[in-house]
Amino acid sequence: MGHHTTPASFGRMLGRSPHATRAGLLNNSEIIVWQSSRRLVMALGLGVVAAVLRATGTIAGPAWPIFVIVPAYIALVALLTLRIERRHRVGRAALLALALADVVTIFAAVALMTPAAYYARALLLSLLALQFTQMFFGRTPALTVVVGSVAAYAALLATAHSRGVPVEWTEQAWLLALYLLVALNGMALQASANRRLASLVELFTNAQRGDFSRTFVDERNREPDGITLLGRAYNHLRSELATMVMTDPLTHCFNRRGFEQVLMQTVAAAMRRGGELALLAIDIDHFKAVNDTAGHLAGDAVLREVADLLTQSSRVGDVVARVGGEEFVILLPNADSEMAGVVAERVMATVRAHRFRTVRGRHEVTVSIGIAAEQVIDPHIAGALRARADEALYVAKRLGRDRVVMWAPGIRSNATPPWSTFALAE
Ligand code: GH3
Ligand code: MG
Ligand code: MG
Repeated sequence: MGHHTTPASFGRMLGRSPHATRAGLLNNSEIIVWQSSRRLVMALGLGVVAAVLRATGTIAGPAWPIFVIVPAYIALVALLTLRIERRHRVGRAALLALALADVVTIFAAVALMTPAAYYARALLLSLLALQFTQMFFGRTPALTVVVGSVAAYAALLATAHSRGVPVEWTEQAWLLALYLLVALNGMALQASANRRLASLVELFTNAQRGDFSRTFVDERNREPDGITLLGRAYNHLRSELATMVMTDPLTHCFNRRGFEQVLMQTVAAAMRRGGELALLAIDIDHFKAVNDTAGHLAGDAVLREVADLLTQSSRVGDVVARVGGEEFVILLPNADSEMAGVVAERVMATVRAHRFRTVRGRHEVTVSIGIAAEQVIDPHIAGALRARADEALYVAKRLGRDRVVMWAPGIRSNATPPWSTFALAE
């Protein structure tokens, strides 16, 4: 990277940072680079205007400090920026240095160039520095600007007073109070905006991973600004997207992604209660034959009907999901193995008794079911639950299909029917 920095950096310093567009989110070093260009433009602009006003005699005071302070400030900001650019990250020290550079420059310029009657200009300029700092860098650097400005202003007045300039202390105190009002109000607004923007960024990041579990917390009647509108728009979008992303369009039950999320949440809830959790892995037997004899569309219709039957024969609160072509799962929160066995038998019997209507007449369909039931003691149980239910399902298939098998340790090695040496080799 190092050998690229010199020619590219000036472009970046003026705000054309390639990182800003590439990365989804800004990082501090990009923000500094962007801000620095603003700072440089403002310093230059103010310097030129001040020099012209003094040269023409429009405003009283010496002009020479402009030619010292403005270049010094520009050099300092440019140096800090180049350093930050090169390292691609910003330490707290650099942020504070930047904040202090602003304050010192402002008050030095005012002290050297402004008659004591107009020292309040420094406070106005300090609000400018505060805007930059607070916008991105939060409370500490912003408070540094405010506290530094109040102290520097008091020092200005004290030196003026010691030089024999009359100072109206109560008026000045009132001025400082007004300054603090504006500064702190600005800080509070910006802090609230920053906080809500950060929570929105987090929501969008989660959504990108398919996690729609959280909503934007709409603090009603507080700051009904654009961010709140954006948050509400996200909440609307969220419910639509969540349905789209988490459900299976064919059967309208959860798809694999949706199931994974519900499983995580259910495991977390069961962890808190210390409860039990059961999982049924369900696979339609010889489904390929349905497709082959009745066609794919009939196969789809069978899948839909099976999903309906599963939903009908499970309990309220159970979660039915289609996790593969003709593979379903039912998650039973709060169920022990006995309860899971009852539900599985009921599912199996319901499907077996149902007559699936296709153009080729009525089809009988059976399912094989593997059961795993566990006491939830740690979050990794989710993986174990699925692996065990799958293992039990595999055994159910091996034993001849159309049956329920409960997982137990070592189940798989006992599963080979003794009459089949072919199955052993599998
Ligand atoms: P087994 O009893 O061992 O489970 O046999 P099977 O035929 O059910 O299992 P296999 O895995 O060999 O075949 C599954 C079939 O399911 C193959 C595939 O064409 C079909 N299938 C998968 N997804 C869909 C779908 O969305 N619609 C339809 N109509 N068929 C599907
Ligand atoms: Mg199958
Ligand atoms: Mg299958």
